[in-house]
Amino acid sequence: MTTTYLDHAATTPLRAEVAAAMAEVHAGPLGNPTGSHPPAQRARRLLEEARDEVAAFLGRDPGDVVFTSGGTESANLAVLGTAEAALRDAVVLYSAVEHPAVRESALAAVAAGMDMRELPVDGHGVVDLSALERALSSRAVLVAVMTANNETGVVQPLADVVEAVRRRAPRAYVFTDAVQAAPWLDLADATAGADLVSLSAHKVGGPVGTGALAVSPQVVLAPRQHGGGQERERRSGTQDVVGAVGLAAALRLVAAERPAAVPRVAALRDRLSEGLLAAIEGAHRTVPAGVAVLPGHLHLCLPGVEREELLVALGAEGVCVSGGSSCASGALEPSPVLAAMGVAPGLAAGAVRLTLGYDTTDEDVDRALAVVPSVVAALRRPA
Ligand code: PLP
Repeated sequence: MTTTYLDHAATTPLRAEVAAAMAEVHAGPLGNPTGSHPPAQRARRLLEEARDEVAAFLGRDPGDVVFTSGGTESANLAVLGTAEAALRDAVVLYSAVEHPAVRESALAAVAAGMDMRELPVDGHGVVDLSALERALSSRAVLVAVMTANNETGVVQPLADVVEAVRRRAPRAYVFTDAVQAAPWLDLADATAGADLVSLSAHKVGGPVGTGALAVSPQVVLAPRQHGGGQERERRSGTQDVVGAVGLAAALRLVAAERPAAVPRVAALRDRLSEGLLAAIEGAHRTVPAGVAVLPGHLHLCLPGVEREELLVALGAEGVCVSGGSSCASGALEPSPVLAAMGVAPGLAAGAVRLTLGYDTTDEDVDRALAVVPSVVAALRRPA
């Protein structure tokens, strides 16, 4: 059976060029980057070259880049590392649509005696800037607003967030989770002004289990992992050189291909959207056209279907889509993102996320258009 993979926001296929770059690292002698002999020197050189490339992608200095095990670790380090280092009556502010890696880190900060404040979003999932202004005070240590949302693809007004924080709470840091935005936006521009920026390799055609956190020099960060003091004391543990090379190779491809990929994928997404909305009665886009959304994201509410049943039935036909957050512990849990946007629980129950990637083709869209409407019709409960 053909597989039509429309779940790139959950994870992307490892790109052949990335696998080749990683295999090349394995092909030679590879030591521990902290050592002195030639295999260690090779490891160190490869690691630092990868760091240079990640830094260039983010528009940062190489010394700002901390390699981690992925988006989740990066978010934990950003939130808890800054909160713990603050050593004062700290408040962590985060938008109500943050990924669980951020939200749960903020909750863990509360368990450690700090305070947190969730910032509301509007009906489109865009952070409420006046609520942010009201919440900012000298107690704020960190404001976490993602670059773009994993469920809906909605792009946040990060420059306005940075501006408000600088004006009202100049000592607070801005952290942006750029994991989903990385394939699609020029992050040097989109995240300019943020103090901390996180990435994950497996969302950009790289390997699972590798990521990075950019930390601006002025940020005081308490490490979460203690040990040999690697990554300039910010993240102990022997570095994953192969993973770092994979991340750098994936970002190199993204940067080169993005100018052509963005309009191509957006056009495919729009064709898919128009086709599904025309063929499925009552279907609508959760976020209306006109709101800034990543080009690969299509989030639909399909009244009268139960999401989990639909995902399984589509999967059986080879069409792979998801319910939204791939990290929800229970598939039937209501989405906090949709709840924060005020989407009625009945509608949210039938919400699906289709996400296209750099490898998505016209044929993938044709196949989804041929399969999804009939599967929805078969599952729809009589009114
Ligand atoms: N942040 C966002 C916005 C994500 O979409 C994800 C993954 O779904 C993560 C963080 C976690 O990244 P990782 O899977 O590398 O831990």
